[in-house]
Amino acid sequence: MIFALLLLAASAPQKGRLVVVAVIDQLRYQDVLWLAPELGSRGFAGLGTPAPMRYDTVVTETAADHAVLSTGAYADMNGVVGNRFYVEGARRELVEDPSCPVWGAPQIGRSSAMLRVPTVGDAFKLGTDGAGRVVSVAVKDRSALFLAGASADLAVWFELETGEMASTTCYAPGPPPWLPQHVLVDWKDWVWTMSRPDAIARLVPQARNEGSRPANDVGAEFPHPVGNGKIDKRLALAARNSPAASTSALRTASAAVKAMALGESNTTDLLFVALSSVDGVGHQFGTLTRERVDTILRTHDELGAFLSGLRARLGKRLSVLLTSDHGLNPTASDERRLRVGQGGTIDLDGLIQKLNRALDEQIGLRREGWVLAIDGSQLWLRSPFPPKAVQAAVEVLRREPGLWKVIPADEIDAAESFVRHSWFAGRSGQAMLVTRPLWTMKKAADAADHGSPWNDDALVPVSLQAPGFRLRRNGVIRATQIAPAIAALLDAAPPAAALDDPAIEHE
Ligand SMILES: [Zn+2]
Repeated sequence: MIFALLLLAASAPQKGRLVVVAVIDQLRYQDVLWLAPELGSRGFAGLGTPAPMRYDTVVTETAADHAVLSTGAYADMNGVVGNRFYVEGARRELVEDPSCPVWGAPQIGRSSAMLRVPTVGDAFKLGTDGAGRVVSVAVKDRSALFLAGASADLAVWFELETGEMASTTCYAPGPPPWLPQHVLVDWKDWVWTMSRPDAIARLVPQARNEGSRPANDVGAEFPHPVGNGKIDKRLALAARNSPAASTSALRTASAAVKAMALGESNTTDLLFVALSSVDGVGHQFGTLTRERVDTILRTHDELGAFLSGLRARLGKRLSVLLTSDHGLNPTASDERRLRVGQGGTIDLDGLIQKLNRALDEQIGLRREGWVLAIDGSQLWLRSPFPPKAVQAAVEVLRREPGLWKVIPADEIDAAESFVRHSWFAGRSGQAMLVTRPLWTMKKAADAADHGSPWNDDALVPVSLQAPGFRLRRNGVIRATQIAPAIAALLDAAPPAAALDDPAIEHE
């Protein structure tokens, strides 16, 4: 009898579903329109015609916006005010958490504990008594952690400190046997060349961008020596900021799907895949560059192949939603070259020096400087400081031609929704800085940056391939509609603070 039952179980068809959410770091809506001829009739990663989606926040940055995608709420609710914040004079990454040591680097700790509201994965776990698996695989720690949440089965990323795909002891005591090891070996001698030389040269005739700031000795134009024969910290940095990192992350995602039998577990599983190579390349080389275009096309090719493999196995049991966390502002040199005159660049270091000088004159000399940082579109003064120091700083900043508005803490409540959404009292700085459209506020070491509420930074694509569902195409989708959409794909109710309507509807 038992034998017969076992036989029956073995021959029963595998059931289960897989929901994949892919997030391409720094993919602009305009990227997929401009590159549409190269992407082919099936669109980016084979996911069809994208719709535009906007983030209604000033802090269009990786940590903040991945948290918006997973929670359905902005920083004012979810607490993730940017990639970094400042406590008692010290800079802290939002993902820093000594209580969750990283595998192989116990001196650093990482978690999503700064989230003040649950992710869609957290709600799914709570709603099903943990039945469905939730896994995230990313290039960056902040993408993996803020998409997944603390309740996930695993959140894994490419860890710069170890040069390995890694997670923390809060998810598992150490790397599971299936996790790809020593991923940098693949890139030790890798020279990055263009995947489609003719098409890319036609799209971007200039081989070298005037404003490019290549890092880690990879050179200013193709071919780029990402590997130089040595496995070291330089290779980890060069690989992370090239197409290599996304390739390694996708290989890890494939290994996770196979080893964990995602989608084959008689329940519904959720897999996040967050690929950041476009962002690493865009910051170094700029918006309109061969390097950035090649990285977008490689991501399209490789993610498309990964999804085709899943589709072949799971068929209608696979649902895929793709979007991005933010865009990228055009560089001032491209704006000049193409005679678009409204934009410009604010040099962050120069602005901080100017503020320090003004406050030295008006409040009194302070050798260590009054300004701790301008980061995540926020001004952070060094404690202690008198209230008049904030007023003086705001007055100086309001005279900057590239700043549209400067909003101190006590004026946030009366400001635009994108300003209010960016602010979490007690965690944000002393004032919010909003650049004018086409202006970039950046460090000299970067070619290009993002971090404004305007369309270049805030408008991204969203695509869907899910049996029985389609995107709502009446107007621009809101970023807060993604978490409810993921919940709908999971057949689950949205997480606690995701109050918006889903971005998708039944066909
Ligand atoms: Zn970025």
